[in-house]
Amino acid sequence: MHVSVNAAVSVDGKLSSRRREQIAISGDDDFARVDRLRAESDAVVVGVGTVLADDPSLVRYDETHRTSIRGETAPPPARVVVDSSCRTPTDAAILAGDPETYVLTSDAAPESRLTALRDAGATALVAGEERVDLTDAFAAIETHGIERVMVEGGGELIFSLFEAALVDEITVYIGNTVIGGRDAPTLADGDGFVEAFPELELTSVERIDSGVVLAWHVS
Ligand code: NAP
Repeated sequence: MHVSVNAAVSVDGKLSSRRREQIAISGDDDFARVDRLRAESDAVVVGVGTVLADDPSLVRYDETHRTSIRGETAPPPARVVVDSSCRTPTDAAILAGDPETYVLTSDAAPESRLTALRDAGATALVAGEERVDLTDAFAAIETHGIERVMVEGGGELIFSLFEAALVDEITVYIGNTVIGGRDAPTLADGDGFVEAFPELELTSVERIDSGVVLAWHVS
């Protein structure tokens, strides 16, 4: 599977404020770039923290771009939530609409929540005991034909993906603002590395809107 991460951060590396509310960090040209990235992916992935904070629908993508690279009959990119206990609300926007939604969950999920999400139309796949085992969970969605995923956050999930050595590339939009706050989410949260830091190779630098997009390949 090919895993690319894309996120927008402030100059000081924050994904949002300490209130964990969604903040417009980039602009229209960057939104268009993200829509093209989604169009190139089989699925768009977020953590349940992002679902609970932002209630994203993840249905937007560049249809013309998708048709040009995948053909007229390509289905829209699927949506994936990483959610150990099935905390995703049954009325979450990520469960509404046509594209398929996968909930990657764990043995810790109460049976009633698992059933509720399946009844709400999600395909729930269990991997891991207390937390989602990302390596096994991504292998499970691969058996459903998902080979190219784009991860949109948040910081807990992004760190775990680096920890599990699952990230192939990362693009980061750095916007022209400072958010600050020791409790505000950053691009990679989790426990953090103290050694064996992942090494990245810079592959492109581009000015977009009032900021810059950096693309990195993970060695
Ligand atoms: P997150 O990364 O979206 O989700 C983290 C949650 O996923 C964990 O708390 C955990 O909850 C679940 N999870 C299950 N298995 C996991 C595993 N193996 N590793 C990591 N997480 C796992 O949440 P977040 O870090 O709180 O980020 C949300 C914030 O980021 C919001 O403020 C949102 O606005 C912001 N955001 C910004 C951008 C941007 O581009 N600027 C993009 C996305 C999000 P359970 O234990 O309950 O499963």
